[in-house]
Amino acid sequence: MKKRFKGIFWLTILGLALTLPRQVEAKVKIVTTSTDLASIARLIGGDKVEVESIIQGYQNPHYVDIKPSYMIKLHKADMFVKVGLDLELWSPVIAEGARNSKILAGGPGYVDASVGAEIMEIPQVKITRELGDIHIFGNPHYWLDPENGKVIADNILQGLKRIAPEEHAYFEERKAEFDKKIDDLLPGWLEKMRPYKGTKVVTYHNSWPNFLNRFGLVAVGYVEPKPGVPPSPAHVTSLIDKIRHEGVKVVIQEPFYETKISQFVADKSGATLLILTPSVLGAEGVNDYFGLFDFLINSLISAFQEAGIKPNPGGGAPGL
Ligand SMILES: [Zn+2]
Repeated sequence: MKKRFKGIFWLTILGLALTLPRQVEAKVKIVTTSTDLASIARLIGGDKVEVESIIQGYQNPHYVDIKPSYMIKLHKADMFVKVGLDLELWSPVIAEGARNSKILAGGPGYVDASVGAEIMEIPQVKITRELGDIHIFGNPHYWLDPENGKVIADNILQGLKRIAPEEHAYFEERKAEFDKKIDDLLPGWLEKMRPYKGTKVVTYHNSWPNFLNRFGLVAVGYVEPKPGVPPSPAHVTSLIDKIRHEGVKVVIQEPFYETKISQFVADKSGATLLILTPSVLGAEGVNDYFGLFDFLINSLISAFQEAGIKPNPGGGAPGL
C-alpha cells in the first residue's frame, strides 16, 4: 500500500508539473539563430534567461548544415529569435521540424529581430533567388549598426514580456541599461573613426552597409558580384581595375569564405586583405555585442594605418 501511495503521489506531482504553465522561477529558454542575437538576449534577459545560439560566431549565417539537435533545441525553447529578412535560409526547416507552435510566426515566442530596424538596400523591384542574389528583402546584416542593436533589443524585450510578463520590470530596466550603454559608447566609436571618414573599401560579401554607413566608410565594390554568387574571372579583373582606379587600400573579408580569390585581388591591386568577423565570438576577445564594435573599429584603424592611409583629424577624406 505504502509503495502504491508513493506512486500515486509522484504521478500527481508529475501531472501538475505538466499542466501548469511555465513555472515562474524557471528561466526562459531562448534559442537564437546567431551569436549576436544571443549576446543581446543575454544582456536583456540577465539571470532570468538561458540562451543558446544555433550557429557559431565563425560560421556563415546564410548557410548551415541542419542537424537534428537544432530541432531538439527549438522543441524545448520558449522563444526563438532570428535575424529575419531570409538571412537564415535554413531556419524554416528547423522551426517547422521542432513541433513547437509557440516559436513559429504568430506564436508568443517568435521574435523577428528585424522589425523596426533600419534596413538598407531594399529592392525597388521584386527580385528572386533564381539569379543568385540572396538578399531579396533588403540587406539582412543590419545588426552591424549599434542603433539597430537597440531595435533588436526591443524586439527581444517584447518577446520576453509575452513569455514572462511577471518579470517585465526587470527586463525593461536591463533594456534601458543596454540603450544607455550604446548611447555612451557610440560617440567614442564615431570619434575614433572620424579621421577615416570617406575611406573607400572593398568587401567580399555585402555584409557591411549598415556598419559602413554609420561609421562613414564607403564600399566601392564586392568580391562577390551579387550576394551569394561566386566571382567570375571577368568580375575579378574588373574589380582589380576598380581598386587601383579608386585608390582602395583595404579589402575586407568575413572569416568563413575562402581567402584565395580575395588574396589574389588584394595582391594584384596592391591592397591589404583584412579578415574581419561580423559576429560576436567570431574572433578571440569578441565576447559580446559591445565588444564586437570595439574589435571592428580597432581592427579597421590598424589596417588603415598599416596600409598607409593618413588620418585626417578634421574628419574629411583621409590622405594616402
Ligand atoms: Zn548576406
